[in-house]
Parts: sequence; structure tokens; C-alpha cells
Amino acid sequence: MIHVRYHRGLALPAHALWLDPHVAKPFAFVSHAHSDHIARHAEVVTTAATARLMRARLGGARREHVLAFGETSAFRDCALTLLPAGHILGSAQSFVESAAGTLLYTGDFKLRPGLAAEPAQWRHADTLIMETTFGLPKYVMPPTAEVLAQIIAFCHATLDERAVPVLLAYSLGKAQEAVCALLAAGLTPMLHDAVFAMTEIHRELRADFPTGYVRFDAAHTAGHVLIFPPNAKNTALPAPRRTAVLTGWALDPSAKYRYQCDAAFPLTDHADYPDLLRYVALIQPRRVLTLHGFAAPFAADLRARGVEAWALTADDQLELHLHDHSFVAQAPGG
Ligand SMILES: [Zn+2]
Repeated sequence: MIHVRYHRGLALPAHALWLDPHVAKPFAFVSHAHSDHIARHAEVVTTAATARLMRARLGGARREHVLAFGETSAFRDCALTLLPAGHILGSAQSFVESAAGTLLYTGDFKLRPGLAAEPAQWRHADTLIMETTFGLPKYVMPPTAEVLAQIIAFCHATLDERAVPVLLAYSLGKAQEAVCALLAAGLTPMLHDAVFAMTEIHRELRADFPTGYVRFDAAHTAGHVLIFPPNAKNTALPAPRRTAVLTGWALDPSAKYRYQCDAAFPLTDHADYPDLLRYVALIQPRRVLTLHGFAAPFAADLRARGVEAWALTADDQLELHLHDHSFVAQAPGG
């Protein structure tokens, strides 16, 4: 039996395979090492990179079943194959084959190629469980190369003013995209400790990861581009400086003010709306289940296009259960 986090108050069998539960479970597939996808599970199925990143971020010990991309292994009553999700380094989708049919669970994913993550791969499946962070038509990301060029231009303009550019980027994934882009442009990234730790693990795991970045040193920031996690921006930063947040939410006109930055650039590690639709067309599932962000509107959008789709949220829960009893899930926080 496969469980997706969603249904409240169900008695669950101990042998269940959970998909990305955010509270500790006996046995879980962990799609990637972002903090909202990891917990202190007893046993995990994941990639080598995610296992390594989990050890660094969570500590503790757990039984790890490490699968290479494309390798199939039997677990409980199903066969599991991991496919790259293109989200961050080591991020995986799980392709599950069982007597109930085939299922593809995306975890967080993106189709646009990035500088730090493995390019996404996919397979046809009867049921597609997908993340829908940017599941509204207004979320159309500009080409990544264009966004990176804007970020580089912002850094050069700031340095020309003898100020320090500070990029605010999530410490795992987005920050390494920025590190690669800055180094390729001849700039020197200076990394907050949390960003530095995650970047060093990228170097350990990927022989081709670039060198030339340095660790944050408050006395020597001149001429460098600082990369800090968004939640660390209130620590002692050099002055004068200009700050820019790197996030897909930069497409919202209010982003600059919401993040209290001088600029906001739409660099994201999630699929945008056109790619969410494209993914459904590629997978050709009989049914789609949506999670995260605009899950309910995106499911309604798919139904209007003739695709059976339900959001894994409280609103659609009853309707989902009328259609299918084979999935059990748990509400966020449960
Ligand atoms: Zn993520």
C-alpha cells in the first residue's frame, strides 16, 4: 500500500511506503533534501545524494536504501524505480509498479535544465501525483538564461557603484545554481556558512562542480557577491549593499516589497504553469492527483481540459475517495 500525506485520522498499517511524509514514519520514500520533505524516518528509500544531504541536515541515523536513477528494486508489495526530478541535486521522482497499476510521484520537479540538478526524466503512468506550486496560468517563468543574465547584470551594476551585491537564495539548490552562474560569469561568490556547507557537499558529490567560491568573511566582502539564505538577511551585512531575492514568486509584482529587497529575480527550481501542463501531456495518466501550492485550481483546470484530476487537499478529499480507495494519505501536519 502506498501513502501520500493527506488523510486525517486513518489507522495505517506499519508496512506502508510513505511518499515524502513530513513527520517520522517507519518507511518512507524521500524525494529530495529540502527541509519540508525530510524527517527522522526509521527507513528511507532515496538517492545517494539525498541520503548524503539528509545526513548533513538532519543528523541521526536511519536505514538507507539507496537507489541509482533508473534502477528498479522491490519494496513491500511494489517495484520502485527512481527518476531524476530536475529540482535540486539528487532530487528524484518515484515510479511505482504494483498490482494496482503504475504510479509516478514527482516530488518537487522542474523540466527546464538547471546548472546544479540532474535533468528530469519521465515515464508513462496510470496515476500521476504531481506538485503544483506554480499551478496558476499567470506563473510563466522567463527563460532561465535570461534570468541569470539579469542577476549577473545586477551584480556588476552594484559592484560598479562600489557596493556589495547580496543574493538571497535558499541554501540548498537555488544557492548552487547562483554559485555556478556567478563563477561562469567571472564573479566570486562569497557564501554564508549554511550555503557554504551545502555547496561543499555538491563538490564532494559532483566532480564537475566548479571551484572558486569562498566562505563569508565580514572583513573582506569588497568585490565579492554574497549569497545568503533569505532568513539570514538580518545578520550583519556589509554596507553599502544592494539585495536581491531569487525566487519564482518574483513574478508577483509585490515580491520586492514582501521580501524587502532592492530587486527580485524569478529563478526557481519548480515547474512553471506551462511545464505543469506539458508534464501531464507527456505522462498521459488516467488520473492526476495534485499537491502543494495551487493544487485545487490546477486540478479544476485539468478537469476542464478533460483530464480526471483531484487535489490532495481537504476540499477535494471526499470526491477523491468516491473515485478511488487505493490511496491513503495524511493531511499536512498529521
Ligand atoms: Zn523542494
